[in-house]
Amino acid sequence: MALVVQKYGGSSVSDARSIKRVAKRIAEARRAGNDVVVVVSAMGDTTDELLDLAAEISPKPPQREMDILLTAGERISMSLLAMAIDKLGVKAKSFTGQQAGLLTDAVHGKARIVDVVPHRIKQTLDKGQVAIVAGFQGVSEGNDVTTLGRGGSDTTAVALAAGLDADVCEIYTDVDGIFSADPRIVPGAHKIDRVTYEEMLELAASGAKVLALRAVEYARRYGVPVHVRSSFSGKTGTLVIGTHGDLIDPNADSGEQEEAAMEDPIISGVAHDRSEAKITIVGVPDTLGQAARIFEVVAESGANIDMIVQNVSAAATGLTDISFTLPHGDVRSTVAALNAVKSELKFDELQIDDEIGKVSLVGAGMKSHPGISARLFGALRDAGINIEMISTSEIRISVVTRADNLDDAVRAIHTAFGLDSAEGEAVVYAGSGR
Ligand code: ADP
Ligand code: ASP
Ligand code: MG
Repeated sequence: MALVVQKYGGSSVSDARSIKRVAKRIAEARRAGNDVVVVVSAMGDTTDELLDLAAEISPKPPQREMDILLTAGERISMSLLAMAIDKLGVKAKSFTGQQAGLLTDAVHGKARIVDVVPHRIKQTLDKGQVAIVAGFQGVSEGNDVTTLGRGGSDTTAVALAAGLDADVCEIYTDVDGIFSADPRIVPGAHKIDRVTYEEMLELAASGAKVLALRAVEYARRYGVPVHVRSSFSGKTGTLVIGTHGDLIDPNADSGEQEEAAMEDPIISGVAHDRSEAKITIVGVPDTLGQAARIFEVVAESGANIDMIVQNVSAAATGLTDISFTLPHGDVRSTVAALNAVKSELKFDELQIDDEIGKVSLVGAGMKSHPGISARLFGALRDAGINIEMISTSEIRISVVTRADNLDDAVRAIHTAFGLDSAEGEAVVYAGSGR
């Protein structure tokens, strides 16, 4: 008998029919003798709809109230799911994040879990019942409801799996696992059988929202085995696990395995991100300490900076331009913070560009294989796509393009690195991709 944590995303519980379908799956897992804890997201696009609704009321609603609003989505799905399981003759009880013992800091909208104290969940399991937990939410020390950031139900699931010492954390979604690219954009993407925490971290940080970044960080820290799979099929999905050795094809003979491990860069996939904008500070005097001062101001505004590019200064003027990318949501506060120190920093103007996209190639051994950048840039050239910014790390190359070109860029790079599958199209079972 195993203890399993199963997480069902919004597209898996988008209407009454889906909730009943998922309930059957959960009841089967319980009847097979497992202890089952279920984490559930809000139905379909509920969270986005609640965000839209709040935006109609106020452009800048109090964050505490936003969190109370958003957590309502998961309360609806958790109670309906408990009812559906009960109807199948299996006892189930639903719990809010607070009731489940998910204690967080007080940073509304992106709270971090500080402790998991799942007494009530354990009691429920001890009685042979299924525990359903509302994803994406917790409670602060001051007893305020908090949310964990978009995609946070994945984090709830992994944190509960760690706190309960579960055998596995299953993330049920609308595709058959983690693919070499988003199957919504690349129908020929292939399913990855196993991926390391490190590579998944990089894919998630580069925009592959199939698993939330914080969930992967948590899983790595506590060594939680994560299995990403579809709630619409019975197929085995993708295992996210610890070591690289496990990634080599288990069917290859040992000589082949060693060669594969030693020679080849191991490309895990292509990720894309539409969630960022670009700010360019035009006409900055190229003097000592300017960049330090600019990014102090930006950091104080709370923005998460991603890429930074500083142009060579024009000899005649001694002025330079500095561009950086950041989440759309941080643009307003960052622009205000920079404008407040415009006379001190002596720049000419700020340009805001909302229409960018970022595509990243992720895999081990990028830096030690110089041909990789050349191949990637060549693929974009052949597809007629201009590169606006570039950044590289040991296991990632990212480039910024026009948002309109992003899908083509993902497909071009996927093909150029031989990632297209021969086995037919990746299936997207549901969801709006929102
Ligand atoms: P859920 O509602 O189950 O949490 P999400 O929409 O958050 O689902 O995540 C699943 C989606 O992630 C897929 O439908 C797919 O469009 C997208 N996705 C992006 N990159 C990948 C990838 N590399 N592999 C699989 N899915 C991906
Ligand atoms: N409902 C939340 C969101 O849409 C949390 C989640 O689904 O993981 O971001
Ligand atoms: Mg998700």
